[in-house]
Amino acid sequence: MGFTPSAKYIFVTGGVTSSLGKGIISASLGKLLQARGLSVTIQKFDPYINIDPGTLNPYEHGECYVTDDGAETDLDLGHYERFLNTPTSQDNNVTTGRIYHNVITKERRGDYLGKTVQVIPHITDEIKRNFFKLGETGQYDVVITEIGGCVGDIESLPFIEAVRQAKLELGPHNFVSIHLTLIPYLEAAGELKTKPTQHSVKQLQEEGIQTDILVCRSSYPLPLELRKKLALFCNVQLNSVIEARDAKTIYDVPILMGKEKLAERVLTLLKLPKSQPDMEDWKSFLGRLKNPTEEITVAVVGKYVELPDAYKSIAESFVHAGAANECKVQVKWLSSETLTDDNARKLLKGFDGLLVAPGFGERGIEGKISAIQYVREHKVPFFGICLGMQCAVIEFSRHVLKLKGAASTEIDTKANHPVIDLMEDQKTVTTKGGTMRLGAYACDLKKGSKVHQAYGKLHISERHRHRYEFNNDYKKQLEKAGMMASGINPKSGLVEIIELQDHPWFVGTQFHPELKSTVLNPHPLFVNFVKSALAYKKTKRP
Ligand code: GLN
Repeated sequence: MGFTPSAKYIFVTGGVTSSLGKGIISASLGKLLQARGLSVTIQKFDPYINIDPGTLNPYEHGECYVTDDGAETDLDLGHYERFLNTPTSQDNNVTTGRIYHNVITKERRGDYLGKTVQVIPHITDEIKRNFFKLGETGQYDVVITEIGGCVGDIESLPFIEAVRQAKLELGPHNFVSIHLTLIPYLEAAGELKTKPTQHSVKQLQEEGIQTDILVCRSSYPLPLELRKKLALFCNVQLNSVIEARDAKTIYDVPILMGKEKLAERVLTLLKLPKSQPDMEDWKSFLGRLKNPTEEITVAVVGKYVELPDAYKSIAESFVHAGAANECKVQVKWLSSETLTDDNARKLLKGFDGLLVAPGFGERGIEGKISAIQYVREHKVPFFGICLGMQCAVIEFSRHVLKLKGAASTEIDTKANHPVIDLMEDQKTVTTKGGTMRLGAYACDLKKGSKVHQAYGKLHISERHRHRYEFNNDYKKQLEKAGMMASGINPKSGLVEIIELQDHPWFVGTQFHPELKSTVLNPHPLFVNFVKSALAYKKTKRP
């Protein structure tokens, strides 16, 4: 029962272990196809029961990435956007929870007309409907679908079954299966081992899928003999055994996959024309990234600093902005809980800039405020994002306006001076999932402000994820004392950006600029922050 699909579909599964980098492989393949003029989107299907990762603690799932249309999604979507330079949406991330929610909603509505609702076909049909949703808009030549988790997990079975059915329905040359596995190196034997991969491929076969391409993560080159063995035992063509060596930076992976001819294999299997990819922009980014002429060190203060994935987009934005400035940006992650008024000077003295990260709840707030006071007074470049911006407003209110007890009502519901307060439309919200102010909102910049200079335009759109806001009752006082509200939402009048006039670079944004920084479009605020940190560093030189 085939249909005539509007797009070609690539499914990426993983085996042996998690964290092999399916997201980066998918994004790299997407980039290589896009560089041949194809229109590509990448979507991720996650096998957990949460409707989305929005309610998950960063310790569980790393950063929550927010799309323009306000979806709280998996951090891999950040990689897709950073590599492809095209926005993703709600439809690019689907969880088991969402699939079941949709099916149960239909069941309650009576859509199944009295039928027994079952995993097969009802859940798998709903999965397939979502597999094909973006492709069938007609906007894309190729849709890459990453299946989260590992083959063999109980929870991913319905997804794998749906991939099996999808292959059948799509018919020849519209479907490619890529399986990413690990080839471990056994120190004692001095050998690379293929057995875990053989087992993983077998598991996938048992679940009904014969992979077309095998991508093998390895710390060492795969010798020809080993490739031949993998091809034979895993039932794939020799040129479909692709080596994925550990790379120095994730941005090398498209180039490495290019050398291994991953995209060529895919194009052959999909019967798509094989033109030369245009990777000039990408290569010139890599050239700048790898040959910095300067170096700065910035401190990022947050409460999940021991977990690098919690601030993934911030880390990557610094990579993009560093390359744009031909400057290596060393990021030191500082725990907000270790910072106090007494040690802020000691801990922050050597840095060329400070970024205070987004966050929720009370833990670490006072440390963030101490850090901000130090950099404000010592004219060190400062960038506050979301909670970081809110802390900057609190700090300024307390120490410049002398408003004793100035706070956010997130921390102190009875604050004397609620300079950051719950947004009006949040006051009636009771459930946690998907109820923050989410997604892209317009913002008008003040002419002549630092941010106007940075963006080079007056109207911008940036992504949000918060419940609290700058309290406009304090705007007049704050502005009079030198804290300019330099970005305003044109509809609601909410203050989206603050900056200090009497400071080389002190900017706080209520939105998350890090969510829009890509390789080809480094975010102007990060680029400018790095530039000012560089300038600050030079003033410190003898
Ligand atoms: N907790 C703050 C709020 O909800 C800031 C959120 C954030 O930093 N993303 O407004």
